[in-house]
Amino acid sequence: MIESMRERIVKNPYDYLFVGTIAFFALSIINIVFAWLGLVCMMTPFILALRSHKNLWCRSYCPRSRFFMKIMTPISLKRPIPKALRSPKTRRYIITFFCVNLMMVVLSTLNVANGSMAPMASVRFLMFIRVPFQLPQLWEITASPVVLHLSYRLYSIMFSSTIVGMLLAILYMPRSWCTICPVQTMVTDIVKKYEKNCESCR
Ligand code: SF4
Repeated sequence: MIESMRERIVKNPYDYLFVGTIAFFALSIINIVFAWLGLVCMMTPFILALRSHKNLWCRSYCPRSRFFMKIMTPISLKRPIPKALRSPKTRRYIITFFCVNLMMVVLSTLNVANGSMAPMASVRFLMFIRVPFQLPQLWEITASPVVLHLSYRLYSIMFSSTIVGMLLAILYMPRSWCTICPVQTMVTDIVKKYEKNCESCR
């Protein structure tokens, strides 16, 4: 059994990247400081796009899309994604919300750093809605207020987008989230810009 599993992993290694998503949430329950790993997920797509001029992250590496495919497919209604969700307008709304969220994270972290605000040690859904539970913490690590605050804010971003993605995966196709994912929108813009520059160089 272990042998056949190893063979399957060797054959399609990318299929198993979904474990990354589960590991992120599991590690954050061990201690919220692990939520800093979310930064890897947020930055790697852009680093890869800038280096390769291709959207390698979405094509092959993204653990979240693998998670939607692997875990959500059995419970997905697999209905077509509504037109409104696929529209450029919707994508722009989502990206604006994402940028405002990031700006709030940076500003609130600066406020915590200069002592004018206490760290927010709670999970928020879509920036404003405080979830009605406290994240269990299995391992006590003494973290500075700034580290603690940023950990919860990064976790909240990852948590919100994963929950929205899971709901969309149930209602529509498993990877519906990808049609509105801000990372995809921004990386595609970078790749398009590069292609345009290349054309004008020819
Ligand atoms: S669109 Fe978003 S969720 Fe989908 S593969 Fe790309 S980064 Fe991952």
